[in-house]
Amino acid sequence: MPKSPIALALHGGAGARRSRDYTNEIRHMAGLVEAARDRLARGDTALDVCIATVVELEVSGLYVAGRGASPNAAGVYELDASLMDGASGRAGGVAALEGFESPILAARAVMTETPHVLLAGAGAARFARSQGLAEIADPAAWFTRAGKGEANHPPGTLAHGTVGCVVRDADGRLAAATSTGGVFNKLPGRVGDTPIIGAGTFADAHAAISCTGQGEYFMRNLAAAQVAMRMRLAGETLDQATAAVLAEIAGLGGDGGLIALDADGNVATPFVSEGMKRAVLDRDGQITSAAF
Ligand code: ASP
Repeated sequence: MPKSPIALALHGGAGARRSRDYTNEIRHMAGLVEAARDRLARGDTALDVCIATVVELEVSGLYVAGRGASPNAAGVYELDASLMDGASGRAGGVAALEGFESPILAARAVMTETPHVLLAGAGAARFARSQGLAEIADPAAWFTRAGKGEANHPPGTLAHGTVGCVVRDADGRLAAATSTGGVFNKLPGRVGDTPIIGAGTFADAHAAISCTGQGEYFMRNLAAAQVAMRMRLAGETLDQATAAVLAEIAGLGGDGGLIALDADGNVATPFVSEGMKRAVLDRDGQITSAAF
């Protein structure tokens, strides 16, 4: 029997500005989509492909997540990440995590190794250490943006590039993962939508969603879960649900975008910001990658 369509989307953040050149990011994202497609063809699960893709986005240093993250107003790198497996309903996240190379791997460990969904701050770091996750010896050397300081952006201003991935595998499982350094010059302890299941990340049997933009707005309208609930409870299509949620965010004065896919492998990548770095493998096997 032929397998059902695989599909995926990833994003490198809604903070794209027309004044910048994203040629490298667009090429990088398209390459990651190809690698993810090959993993899915080999039978990897949606969740594993999501995680592997976000790890690559984090470690590339090209986006404001993982290695490319920017520090908070006190000069400290506090990172957020979460993931959700639509097939099992399991989820994990870390908030304001300091000192680890891959926040998404810490989020996965929270899901698989604890009875909890979200660990924050010192407790999250202690847990990540107990799991033997790779630690950052020298933040100034590790982070690619160290010292570059985008400090002209006040807290709450749109950040330059969270990363995320949503996947539908050949067995119809959906998953979502998101990782970020947050918004530029954020206050110490500030946590955005990215590690909050239902706000920045969500997956169930109907849809998988990863958000990017001014997290405070995505938290206030529970953006990611709202997309899935509109589909589940109101019978909206993926396009209708994602457009409605982003219209609410714009109506509140917020800015950003999201990537989402549904159980049939339809993909949506709407944004109400100037741009959103993104790449897609659609259900017909077509790969596209763009920033605007
Ligand atoms: N949503 C992220 C946050 O508010 C930032 C981003 O997507 O660029 O932390």
